Parts: sequence; structure tokens; C-alpha cells
Amino acid sequence: MGKDSNGNETIDKLSGVGPATADKLKEAGYLDIMSIAVASPSELADAAEIGEAVASKIIVDARKQADIGGFETGAKLFEKRQQVGHLTSGSKVLDELLGGGFESQSIIELFGEFGSGKTQIGHQLCVIVQLPKEQGGLDGEAFYIDTENTFRPERIIQMAEAYELDPEIVLSKIHVARAYNSNHQMLLVEKVKELSKDISAKLLVVDSLTAHFRAEYIGRGALADRQQKLNRHMHDLLRWSDLNNGVVCVTNQVAAKPDAFFGDPTRPIGGHIVGHTATFRIYLRKSKGPKRIARLIDSPHLPEGEAVFTISEKGIRD
Ligand code: ADP
Ligand code: MG
Repeated sequence: MGKDSNGNETIDKLSGVGPATADKLKEAGYLDIMSIAVASPSELADAAEIGEAVASKIIVDARKQADIGGFETGAKLFEKRQQVGHLTSGSKVLDELLGGGFESQSIIELFGEFGSGKTQIGHQLCVIVQLPKEQGGLDGEAFYIDTENTFRPERIIQMAEAYELDPEIVLSKIHVARAYNSNHQMLLVEKVKELSKDISAKLLVVDSLTAHFRAEYIGRGALADRQQKLNRHMHDLLRWSDLNNGVVCVTNQVAAKPDAFFGDPTRPIGGHIVGHTATFRIYLRKSKGPKRIARLIDSPHLPEGEAVFTISEKGIRD
């Protein structure tokens, strides 16, 4: 009842929605009033096993109550853009590719095959974000949602020492949670939103964004559900980056060899859903030894290009 942790009105109080209907709607993914306001009577009737007339009535009430939001002037949006911070990566060429670093108020997607450096960049950002702005940081703490059990404090210590930072202090400002499945992963974002009221965080890493979704939603029949969930997840992440003027960095593994189901190996899973919500997409591939090649794809205001960086004991470098 009341409001969920996003401040959204919950669906229980819509007229015509009793506890049983509310449960069915939530199970079907109608979690807030907005999702019902934009639904059609027939899909809602199917989802909640109610008549279409009742469904129509619920939708009418949802439209009355939905907070549709308004238009913002270009001037207001420009003012907000002025607040955008840049989080550097440790590699100048990679930062230049991104127009000065990882932008706040945005989602950066790193996609590439196993070993291409996605997790290393995630770790590196957790250290650099703590540096003052003059040194390329954002003077904030970090959240790390770990789905593959690859977060390593030892690696953070190496990277922190490379900046002559006290590793213990650095570690104390990185808040890590394991996500056990995709639903848990989505709930952890809610938790991050809550904790962000007390913790001044400027970075949220989700490593990997898609692994659980890929494992749980198998086959063509599950594709629509998976995409809908991922879409919600991405918008939750974007909202966090907006509210906290922070950077969201998500990782997405692609198969090194062509895959019978997913086809093109350079195509990240989540397809256009993840792609359209991510503000920057970086395709990473392995080169000789510690060298990696980053390619910027689909940026709203930067040219496509490539940067070669290396992974060393110190972290990400030119
Ligand atoms: P993924 O894209 O799968 O997340 P990672 O980010 O885990 O890949 O990158 C793994 C690579 O990072 C390893 O193959 C290794 O080359 C490099 N690496 C990891 N730890 C170190 C280290 N301490 N020193 C140097 N290179 C490292
Ligand atoms: Mg990884």
C-alpha cells in the first residue's frame, strides 16, 4: 500500500483492484500505476483474469492517478547537462574516446567476450570515482552489483596502491552485493536507491547486467518477458544515475564464436532494449597480450572511434 521505494504509487489503491487482482497484476509485471495507465483493456484482462469492463475501469482510474510528468524547457535541460561529471578510466585514450571519461547521468554498457576487460574496468572505476574531481574522479563512493562472483577486493587493493591511496579506506567506500538471480538483481537496485540517501555514491556497476537474464529466460517464448524485465531494469538504473548525478556502468558478455541462437557474436544480448537505453556502448575485444581495443558505438553526440588500452597490475592504462 502507499508508495514503493521509487516513490511510485502502488497499484493496490486503484479502484477495482482487490488483493487477488493486485497479486496477479504484479506477477504479470504491472508493478506501478504508470504500467497500467498505458496498458490496453484486453492485455490487462488477460493478465489479471478479470473481465474487460473491469479492466477498462482500472485503466481509467490509473490514467487519472498516473504522474505523467511534464515538459522541461531546453534551458532547464541545458542547466542539468552543465552538472554532468566525467569519471576517468586510467587510460587517456579511452577517456578521449568518451569525450573526457564516463559521463554521469548516463549508462555506459561495456560488451565483449570473456576476458576482454569488462570486470577490470568496473573495478578500476570503483577506485577512481573516489578521487577528487581535479584528479579525474567524482569524489564519491561506489556500488557494485556482482552477478558472476568476480568482484575481487585484492584487485582493488592493487589499483588503489597504484594511486597511493589507502586500500582500506578505498575498500570501505565500495559497497558490494551478490545478486543470485535476475529478480534479486532488480531488487538490489531498489536497495541502492534507498542507501543512496545516506551514502554519497557516484558510481553503480552492474557486472554482469545480462548473465542471469540469459540463463533464466531461455528460448524464443521467453524473449518478450526477458526484454520487458530488462527494459524496466535499465530504466531503474537510468533513474538512479539521474537522481544522483552518477555514472552507471553495466557489462554484457557476447560469445566469442557465432551462436546458433543469438547469431552475430558482436551483438550483445538484450539487443535493442539495452542498446537504446544505454547512453554509451563500448565494444571491447582482446588484442595481443594485455592490449585491449575499445570501440565506441552509437553515441548521441560523439563520433565512433577506437582506442587501444592495456590491463596491467596497476589497472587500466594507455
Ligand atoms: P571480462 O571481460 O570477462 O570481465 P576481465 O575484466 O575479468 O574480463 O579481464 C580479465 C583479464 O584481465 C585477464 O585475462 C588478465 O589479462 C587481466 N588481469 C586481471 N587481473 C590482472 C592483474 N592483476 N594484472 C594484470 N592483468 C590482469
Ligand atoms: Mg567479467
